[in-house]
Amino acid sequence: MGKGNTLAGKKTPTRQCIGCGDKKDKKELIRVIKTPEGEITVDFTGKKNGRGAYICNSTECLKQAVKKKSLERSLKTPIPKDIYQELEKEMIKGES
Ligand SMILES: [Zn+2]
Repeated sequence: MGKGNTLAGKKTPTRQCIGCGDKKDKKELIRVIKTPEGEITVDFTGKKNGRGAYICNSTECLKQAVKKKSLERSLKTPIPKDIYQELEKEMIKGES
C-alpha cells in the first residue's frame, strides 16, 4: 500500500483523567459518557454521542475517582455501581 499519508506533526487531543488529574492522549483513556437520554455508559469506541468523562486505564485512578466522586461531579448525575464494575473489569484486563 502507498504511504501518502503523513501523521507527523498531527496533534492528538488530550483529556484530563478524573482520577489522577493528569492530561493524557485521548486514546489512552477510557471514556464514560452520559447519553442525551441520560443513560450512563462506558464508551470503548470513543465515538458515542454525549457528555464524556475520561479516566486512565488504571484501577488506582478508578479508586481515586470513586473516593472523590469525580465521575458523578463530571457528569452531574449518580453513577450506577455496574459502571464502576465494568470499568474495573476493563482495567484489570488491561493491567494483566
Ligand atoms: Zn489517571
